[in-house]
Amino acid sequence: MSSAEIIDGKAYAAALRARVADAVATLKASHGLTPALTVIIVGDDPASHVYVRNKGTQTEEAGMVSATHRLPAETPEAVLLALIEKLNADKACHGILVQLPLPKHIDESKVLAAIQPDKDVDGFHVINVGRLWTGQDALVPCTPFGCLMLLKARVGDLWGKRAIVIGRSNIVGKPMAALLLAESCTVTIAHSRTKDLPERCREADIVVAAVGRPEMVKGDWIKQGAVVIDVGINRVPAPEKGDGKSKLVGDVNFEEAAKVAGAITPVPGGVGPMTIACLLRNTVVAACRQNGIDAPEL
Ligand code: NAD
Repeated sequence: MSSAEIIDGKAYAAALRARVADAVATLKASHGLTPALTVIIVGDDPASHVYVRNKGTQTEEAGMVSATHRLPAETPEAVLLALIEKLNADKACHGILVQLPLPKHIDESKVLAAIQPDKDVDGFHVINVGRLWTGQDALVPCTPFGCLMLLKARVGDLWGKRAIVIGRSNIVGKPMAALLLAESCTVTIAHSRTKDLPERCREADIVVAAVGRPEMVKGDWIKQGAVVIDVGINRVPAPEKGDGKSKLVGDVNFEEAAKVAGAITPVPGGVGPMTIACLLRNTVVAACRQNGIDAPEL
């Protein structure tokens, strides 16, 4: 029996996409501006190709221009850097996203650094990282930004809340911690070397799990009434569904945590759908800033 409110990320993401589509229609009508996103994918990773296809479809559904460059796995780093350089100079391209991971022969940090910061809709460029941590206008990584939107929608003012972020990756954990700090939470960043993780977790009003370990966070780690945001996406065997079948689970044991939490995101259908919706939002913001237009609140 669960007592927690299940946070419906699909519904929040659909509402955000609708607000983005409205903003795009207004920008076209009032400024003749159509925000445009270009995605570059290198190699054949099937999961990455699915993500990229979804990004393209949702970009077009929001009324924006979508372009995708699909490059072979053996593409030299210099060719990728030259393409980014060309897109940086193209005034009709407002957002550039390089799908990660890249093949091993390409230096990821060099590629991310080559993207012009005001077109860096993934928010991974060090300039955007620095802006985020110093409280300046930044393009913010999409997954943690989506988590923050869900938290604010559920909790309202986060001021003074005790938050724990489990995971310290550049993509999720660290920017999540920066966003919560900017909302005046008292933030603990936990990671693989953290001692007494269950105890630290039990102190938190807000738990964000971004670890990549199936159902690691147990129900008795959660404080009564806490809000739990589960970023993890882990595929595990599901023999109950039939031979060779699998299913997705988060980093939190949902059944257990839902008995004590005040609210919790499910996997799938929680944080996941917010990521692309936030990418669309970032593209609109980037297009506005590049054209000297006040970006709408989205
Ligand atoms: P990562 O592997 O880069 O980082 C994992 C972090 O977890 C590390 O900082 C590590 O220190 C920490 N960690 C590992 N073992 C731990 C332990 N036993 N105790 C405490 N901390 C531990 O992963 P990531 O890219 O941050 O992704 C995390 C999860 O979120 C993955 O499941 C990933 O699939 C998922 N994810 C989901 C979305 C989405 O759109 N919903 C986006 C990005 C990542």
